[in-house]
Amino acid sequence: MHDFKYRERDLYCEDVLIQDIAEEVGTPFYLYSYNTLRNHFLVFDEAFKDIPHMICFAMKANSNLSILRIFLREGGGLDIVSGGELYRALLAGADPQKIVYAGVGKTREEIRYGLESDILMFNVESSQELFLIDKVAEDLGCKARVALRVNPDIDPMTHPYISTGLKTHKFGIDIKNALKEYKLAESLEYIEIVGIHKHIGSQITQTSPFVEALKKIILLAKSLKEEGIDIRYLNLGGGLGITYKDETPPHPRDLAAEVIPLLSGTDYTIIFEPGRVIVGNAGILVTKVLYTKFGEGKGFLIVDAGMNDMIRPSLYNSYQEILPLKRDTTSHKIVVDVVGPICESGDFFAKDRVLPDLKRDQLIVLMSAGAYGFTMSSNYNSRPRVPEVLVKGKEFFMIRKRESYEDLVKGEEIPEFLYL
Ligand SMILES: *Cc1c(COP(=O)(O)O)cnc(C)c1O
Repeated sequence: MHDFKYRERDLYCEDVLIQDIAEEVGTPFYLYSYNTLRNHFLVFDEAFKDIPHMICFAMKANSNLSILRIFLREGGGLDIVSGGELYRALLAGADPQKIVYAGVGKTREEIRYGLESDILMFNVESSQELFLIDKVAEDLGCKARVALRVNPDIDPMTHPYISTGLKTHKFGIDIKNALKEYKLAESLEYIEIVGIHKHIGSQITQTSPFVEALKKIILLAKSLKEEGIDIRYLNLGGGLGITYKDETPPHPRDLAAEVIPLLSGTDYTIIFEPGRVIVGNAGILVTKVLYTKFGEGKGFLIVDAGMNDMIRPSLYNSYQEILPLKRDTTSHKIVVDVVGPICESGDFFAKDRVLPDLKRDQLIVLMSAGAYGFTMSSNYNSRPRVPEVLVKGKEFFMIRKRESYEDLVKGEEIPEFLYL
């Protein structure tokens, strides 16, 4: 469900005519609905209300400070994957005791920053990392709370780039070696074991990979208990999918209905790290048709947003629904590639898409752009990053302004010899 709907011919976000925002901020821009974002978070949280749980929004999906605050105000925590994300999380006012930190390549400085901030736990991905965390904690004179990220060897049946839970992937510790790694962790003086973590991939559209993985980690928790290692948190990661086109992913309630019975008789606190399912359909990218071009058997709409603004179609061949801001009243259709201005053939948003007969200067939107949209954007081709706008009811707020040309060269310096 989302709050981007036509009224008569015009597309609205909640009660705001999107055209009005475009006139004020220019194109392209990302647009989010407060109501959709908040609802998505609450629906997930509600689904697990009968068991001890924590929803740690995966901020790599969307790390805008205002958006983080929406979830923090509802009691949410955050899943982070870098020191930069920790900085943003704290700036947004996150409770460090609700921050969990994953990632295969945490640096010494990032580990120190996490410990100094007293985050809830590190999700550790290798024994070398475990040793380093122990060492840094010793230097700081504190104990580091950790979960080991286990790799349950389960196929999430999604795009290979966003699949992370198979033996062949770089993530986590092979579940077969988990007991050994936990014993190692147990032997380290500055490590306190608090949980088990798993995250097997993204855009998962079935419940079975979650259920299978949970069964495996409950068994692991039992064997750990027999070894005298008590686990408090089971972290099931993120990965629940959304509808981009015709996928029918489970509702968080469906997931809860399968997960909760598996946990009866236990008192684990369950952690989820949803990203895409919270923000994906709560954001769109608004862009303008600059030119149309029809050649031999091929038509193009050239728009003012590019792969630097939204890389998912280029990177994953993802499908993004495209809608005109003004609904078409004629039935005339065109078949076109929707492409950006970047000097790469991979710079496209859609191929052979059937669309209304759009003309120069008309606005279109890429739907389902709220997750891994802005956060994956870059300055490639020296293009300033686009603004982000949040709608709440009848009002809209600029939550990140458009970058300037000065922003593009910030931090660059020309050594003197190059002036000679
Ligand atoms: C990316 C990621 C998530 C979020 O995945 P979604 O598919 O966006 O829900 C959660 N946990 C970890 C460790 C991740 O790397």
